[in-house]
Amino acid sequence: MTKDMIAGFELYQPANIEDALDLADRFGKDGWKMAGGHDSLTWFKERAKGPRAVIELTGIEELKGIRETADGIEIGALTTLTEIETDPIIQAKFSILADSARRVASPQIRNAGTIGGNVAQDTRCWYYRGGLNCYRAGGNTCYADTPEGMNREHALFKADRCVAVSPSDTAPALVALEAEMVIRNPDGERVVAAEDFFIGPAIDIERMTVLEPEDILTAIRIPNTWAGATFYFEKVADRNTWDFALVNVASAKVVNGGVIERARVVCAGVECVPKRLNVVEQIVQGEMLNEETAALAGQAAVRGASPLNYNHFKVPLMSNLVKRAILAT
Ligand SMILES: Cc1cc2nc3c(=O)[nH]c(=O)nc-3n(C[C@H](O)[C@H](O)[C@H](O)COP(=O)(O)OP(=O)(O)OC[C@H]3O[C@@H](n4cnc5c(N)ncnc54)[C@H](O)[C@@H]3O)c2cc1C
Ligand code: SF4
Repeated sequence: MTKDMIAGFELYQPANIEDALDLADRFGKDGWKMAGGHDSLTWFKERAKGPRAVIELTGIEELKGIRETADGIEIGALTTLTEIETDPIIQAKFSILADSARRVASPQIRNAGTIGGNVAQDTRCWYYRGGLNCYRAGGNTCYADTPEGMNREHALFKADRCVAVSPSDTAPALVALEAEMVIRNPDGERVVAAEDFFIGPAIDIERMTVLEPEDILTAIRIPNTWAGATFYFEKVADRNTWDFALVNVASAKVVNGGVIERARVVCAGVECVPKRLNVVEQIVQGEMLNEETAALAGQAAVRGASPLNYNHFKVPLMSNLVKRAILAT
């Protein structure tokens, strides 16, 4: 009798970053880095992905914790979402990040799930997660972008063959805060703006971030640029218990005498990457914080949206979330 079991893999548990980098280099595409495992293990359990080697990063102490730096904070990539949600410095200076982490999944998942895994997680498209051979999986069709496709959760903007969206709740907050992602591989270290860390299908349809198989995300740096600003994070999902966002918004504003001096506004659940709303930011800059400005921002936010058969509802949803973000005090 044959049994349906998860395919076997070699498990490596490096205790320092150098050993982890050696392993990532040795196995390349056949090596799977694993942090809290909440995205990884579902792939293995569904039998949709099965690596030859799993490189478990949780034993690497130097990748954990939150430190103050001369110009902000540095968060180790292996820091859990619970630690981010409850950290007093993040709550005081960058509360939007704590608020977004608090809305991820359930307390149990946040206790083990890491910020690195949250930003590097793969998309939740049903078809792809179910193991179908769509464009993103290397095939030659998109099952979601068809007249009958289940595309209620999918993209409004910049689809290119694939209409899947970025699933991470912390990602839009990090883009709003102008965070920087610190990445290491055997050749050294590079630092990428959070805004450029996430990539769409036009750049590479099989990845959601700039991370290559040999890369390890080691830390996330948040500069003091927006420390103590007026923040707003709101996530709308089908359920208030664990569920992925249909649309969310993260914004930072500096307001003086009722005038918006500067703002960053980012939405997720609407594009393959967290969507920075540059036009909205320009429209509100130098304007009074009032209903009129917020209404203009809400209209501008959805300009150019191309809804699919079943996600038209996301257009007014996104527009209203942006309006609320601009009105927040
Ligand atoms: C039931 C359920 C509900 C969920 N709800 C939400 C939700 O509401 N919002 C939300 O944002 N997410 C949600 N998620 C996703 C989950 O929160 C994230 O997947 C989790 O935070 C990932 O963290 P992890 O450490 O467990 O990731 P892992 O599974 O360990 O890793 C995820 C991916 O990131 C890569 N990776 C991890 N760390 C690194 C690193 N340091 N360098 C390079 N690559 C790395 C891994 O190779 C893997 O591809 C949900 C997941 C489940 C199972
Ligand atoms: S939306 Fe993307 S991930 Fe989903 S079926 Fe289409 S190509 Fe695959």
